[in-house]
Amino acid sequence: MTSDLEAQLRAVSLRVTRPRLAVLATLRDHPHVDTDTVIALVRSELPSVSHQAVYDVLRALTDAGLIRRIQPAGATARYETRVRDNHHHVVCRWCGAIADVDCAVGHAPCLTASGDHGFVVDEAEVVYWGACPDCVTKRSEGN
Ligand SMILES: [Zn+2]
Ligand SMILES: [Zn+2]
Ligand SMILES: [Zn+2]
Repeated sequence: MTSDLEAQLRAVSLRVTRPRLAVLATLRDHPHVDTDTVIALVRSELPSVSHQAVYDVLRALTDAGLIRRIQPAGATARYETRVRDNHHHVVCRWCGAIADVDCAVGHAPCLTASGDHGFVVDEAEVVYWGACPDCVTKRSEGN
């Protein structure tokens, strides 16, 4: 699996480093985690990696298109390795849980604006909000 991640880095002309591999592996195994969680998981394997190094790696991987940064309104930024498929997210209003939702259209923008004011629209940001199964259960129990 590691060589697979190395190939991903090389494909976008990024040097293969242990912190970059560790961040990619972490996000592959734990989609939609926030920066603090990435730092904790990476440092559990590579204790010498600084917080700043993880921030730098997240930015470099995002800029290179290997990872996607999502930030639902009111939430901290999350990262994932599932890129380039225009998928959306369903977010729990109560606990912040996030899950992937395939785009019904499959490409951006998947909603047609009723008027574009002459703008060239290339994306419609779609976030589904609601309550996750756990929170539905808890709330119906009256807690
Ligand atoms: Zn929830
Ligand atoms: Zn996702
Ligand atoms: Zn869509």
